[in-house]
Amino acid sequence: METFEEHYGAMKQAIETHMPSADMALIDQAVDYANVKHQYQKRKDGSPYIIHPLAVAQVVAEMGLDQDAVLGALLHDCIEDTDASHEDIERLFGSTVAQLVEGVTKLTRANFSTSEQAQMENLRKMFMAMSKDIRVVLIKIADRLHNMRTMQYQTPAKQISKCQETMDIYAPLAHRLGMQRIKWELEDLSMKYLVPREYEEITSYLDAHKDQDETFMRTIQSKITQRLTSMGIRNTTYGRIKHVYSIYRKMQSQGKSIKELYDIYAFRVIVDSIPDCYNVLGHVHDLFNPVPGRFKDYISTPKPNMYQSLHTTVIGTQGIPFEIQIRTWEMHETAEYGIAAHWKYKQGSGAGSEKDFEWVRRLLESQQDSDTEEFVQSMKIDMFDDEVFVYTPKGRIVSLPADSTPIDFAYAIHSGVGNAMIGAKINNRIANIDTKLKNGDIVEILTSKSAKGPSRDWLTICKSNQARTKIKQWFKKEKREENIVHGRAAFEAEMKREGLAISALDDPEVETQVLKKLSSFDSWDDMYAAIGYGGLTASKAVGRVRDTIIRIQKAQNAERQNPLRMRPDDETALRNRHAVSGVIVEDIDSCMIKFAKCCTPVPGDAIVGFITKGYGVSVHRADCPNAANRNDPRQAARWVRVRWAAEEAQPFDTTLELDCITRDGLLLDVATVMTTSRVRVKELYGKDLPGGRSTFTVRFEVRDVAELETIRKKLLNIRDVIGSRRGQN
Ligand code: MN
Repeated sequence: METFEEHYGAMKQAIETHMPSADMALIDQAVDYANVKHQYQKRKDGSPYIIHPLAVAQVVAEMGLDQDAVLGALLHDCIEDTDASHEDIERLFGSTVAQLVEGVTKLTRANFSTSEQAQMENLRKMFMAMSKDIRVVLIKIADRLHNMRTMQYQTPAKQISKCQETMDIYAPLAHRLGMQRIKWELEDLSMKYLVPREYEEITSYLDAHKDQDETFMRTIQSKITQRLTSMGIRNTTYGRIKHVYSIYRKMQSQGKSIKELYDIYAFRVIVDSIPDCYNVLGHVHDLFNPVPGRFKDYISTPKPNMYQSLHTTVIGTQGIPFEIQIRTWEMHETAEYGIAAHWKYKQGSGAGSEKDFEWVRRLLESQQDSDTEEFVQSMKIDMFDDEVFVYTPKGRIVSLPADSTPIDFAYAIHSGVGNAMIGAKINNRIANIDTKLKNGDIVEILTSKSAKGPSRDWLTICKSNQARTKIKQWFKKEKREENIVHGRAAFEAEMKREGLAISALDDPEVETQVLKKLSSFDSWDDMYAAIGYGGLTASKAVGRVRDTIIRIQKAQNAERQNPLRMRPDDETALRNRHAVSGVIVEDIDSCMIKFAKCCTPVPGDAIVGFITKGYGVSVHRADCPNAANRNDPRQAARWVRVRWAAEEAQPFDTTLELDCITRDGLLLDVATVMTTSRVRVKELYGKDLPGGRSTFTVRFEVRDVAELETIRKKLLNIRDVIGSRRGQN
């Protein structure tokens, strides 16, 4: 039987050692309070109950947590097991302590059992998510550690279930939080009850070889110490046997018995500085032969759980391999107590729990390692509560986004369950389907074959994309006619709101253009149906087609009045496209090209293109009067940038008009120039004007503007030809 005095003394000593600034009077007050509240309770071995909170507080103090955590540990069973209330604790010890106790109580009440191995990670996440404050997790781990240490008083059935839970949740969490020492103890204690025969085999072997092992370890230890001391390196060096569970795992993975397993010793060298760590490594490798490939530098690359040390395996005097871990005192603290060790550095900063999370998160993020990301990710989920974990009635855990409802749960199980849902039970009570689920809730969905299917409201109630998608799918499939009516009404209302004429929708060009733009729809009805089932919102749909409708309508209006407007020509911006008829049209790979009759452009002319209705692109000279208004915004969309293809041998039609003084034979002179220039003349005629003047019009083929200019000069050299201009037909 253990006594109050024993445990109180041990706790007090731990507090004095690890948190000397703690208010001992307040701690005593909490001890008294817990003692009175638990006075009628006994531990299973008959000891007074207060021993348990004292022992848990001791572990928490040894972890180096803060005063609030120690108070929380002392009071951790008060709400669950006594008549103490949250308010009482808050009044006496402050709101932080009350929240810690409340948090531990929640975890105590939750059921962390699942039979599925694949679900362990969710279980651990749920555990973290419920804790809100990392200190709650640490107190709960300390609580479990003491319960494991006194497991012998429990029934065999309880031993098995508690030990399994410890292996599934508490030991992995302790590992993740970097608390090696606690992790090992939890594993060994669990193993003792879960695989007692193997545990017994290993421990009795170790017992039998105790003297031998100790002699071996002393020899190695003094060899290392002597060398380091002679080199002036201050060090604390000791050997130990690896913990039972890790030996067991090695035996299993290597298929060896304990007698065949050599690698059971581990030595630790603790020094003052990081440079010393590397010096020690050199000396150790000088003293013993290193095993190749076993050196690991966790100082420059810490493990995700913050662990730092140098690891090496060497061969000792009798050919026995052993591992040596080299670290500083600070690294040692971190290795033993993990996250908890870091509490020390922020003591007195008065940081609230939210900041603590931020701090933990930053700490974790600062470590670059392959699986760090995953770890940080899971910590974030835990820290920022964006997931909720609930059970099916059969005990399977379902993870959902925070604030999920039974609707989300139902669709997470199966869309058939969601579509047939008529109600839900949470923790065996009928609940509204919009109830927000809490961690650990057991959710049961009530279904009926005559259910009418989901309601449109569900889309706004549910939280998960999965549920939303499945509900939309149902509406899409089951209710097309209804969706078209709903969708059309919504779309037309939105059109009106945007000031667009609904009559535009009857224009076949509008329909073709708009549906081409919304490439997923074959008809207006398709689009209305999508809006109706919620696949597309009416405002988004109108937003996407608005410009197209405006453009087409304006183009139609404008073309009736003045068809020619254009935006500034920017040759350099043109992309190289397949040339049609020697002209490259920006953004259009292949289209019909015609050359405007008004200005008959030839290669070398600056040109622009106008998208006609039904005749492809009409190419004008940039200086053509019909292209003068192309900057008008109402028409701009129909003007496209075009340029001449680089190498084009194909000839172009062009027209020159010659101003002449009328005389006989002039037509022949012009024809002679054209013939000697070796161009093909397509048309040539003269017209007499009043006052002895006449004009000649010649339409002919040229390759480019340079050739045109040569011919023009020759023509102007003819007597009585006094002027020329590019053709306007
Ligand atoms: Mn407890």
